[in-house]
Amino acid sequence: MSASPIQFIDLGAQQALIRDKIDAAIARVLDHGQYIMGPEVREFEQQLQEFTGASHALGCANGTDALAIVLMAWGVGPGDAVFVPSFTYVASAEVAGMLGATPFFVDVIEETFNIDPASFEQAIEDAKAQGLNPAAVVPVDLFGQPADAPAVQKIADAHGIKVLVDAAQSFGATLHNRRVGNWGHATTTSFFPAKPLGCYGDGGAIFTNDADLAKVMDSIRLHGKGREKYDNVRIGMNSRLDTIQAAILKEKLAIFPAELEARDRVAARYTDALEGIARTPKLIDGATSAWAQYTLIVEDRDAVQAKCKEAGVPTMIYYPMALSQQTGYKHYPAVSGGTPVSHSLSGRVLSVPMHPYLEGSVQREITSILGSALSS
Ligand SMILES: *Cc1c(COP(=O)(O)O)cnc(C)c1O
Repeated sequence: MSASPIQFIDLGAQQALIRDKIDAAIARVLDHGQYIMGPEVREFEQQLQEFTGASHALGCANGTDALAIVLMAWGVGPGDAVFVPSFTYVASAEVAGMLGATPFFVDVIEETFNIDPASFEQAIEDAKAQGLNPAAVVPVDLFGQPADAPAVQKIADAHGIKVLVDAAQSFGATLHNRRVGNWGHATTTSFFPAKPLGCYGDGGAIFTNDADLAKVMDSIRLHGKGREKYDNVRIGMNSRLDTIQAAILKEKLAIFPAELEARDRVAARYTDALEGIARTPKLIDGATSAWAQYTLIVEDRDAVQAKCKEAGVPTMIYYPMALSQQTGYKHYPAVSGGTPVSHSLSGRVLSVPMHPYLEGSVQREITSILGSALSS
């Protein structure tokens, strides 16, 4: 056994590395006192643009608001269908329901955990047959790998449907050498502490290459502000990124490229050790992952998880229920034939410790315990 308990995500190791810089960055905010929309917010947004290559990056309060702001900018509301994979975190669908639109569940591909374009295409016809207007689709980059955005976009374009990429788990990943943030009509991410790029509280961002959309979203995140300070021109919300969080994120973004490389190395070591023993994650052609999670498919999942726990290896289940099975969501429509892959995955997925500071020796311990749990 290692000296200290194995962490599922070790935020402490990262903090130890840059603690001085973070302390200094927070101190600078305390000194200038511009806690709301201070200079660090704009500086961080500029860095986000440079990092992603997207022409507009807007900070906001969290990844859920980010999704809502985009849908609000498009005027999505009652009578509209918003297509969402059934196998995702609740926020991806919640925002559609919140705006009075109808989350419409589609299935995912077992190998990638991401939206199945064929299921999406079928769901468009199903929604129309139910009298709904197919308004938007939310491909989610689950566990850090980009969804097949070009395939989704092609279908969406043929029907005039807007594409909102939920990249809360994939910030930093690439598809065909383009960073996440450039796919779809808009992309959102989250800086929740446990995401690949996390702050020390809540935070989020929206990316787009559409200047008009960016302008509307900038207004929505600030109560629907217009050009005159007290002439608000639309219904918006209060969704600003805190200056202190932006200051922290600037320091974390500086080491993020190295962390992405480290995540790749950790994932490769897992795949080497576990391929053939369990179903390991597969990336689509042209994709890199931000490895928010390293998720196995395990048939005897609950027994394997119990054995890992006993041996001191923390594991998590993302997600134990598909959205279309959950109490607050099961009355919403789903693609004809339902979402059987999502339901099946929820009973078989197992995520193992994943963070950039996972040492080879600890990882060997994890894979050896996993190996014996899987084979017994
Ligand atoms: C975390 C997450 C969100 C929401 O982000 P918050 O910042 O917690 O609001 C949305 N979608 C997915 C897929 C997520 O993992």
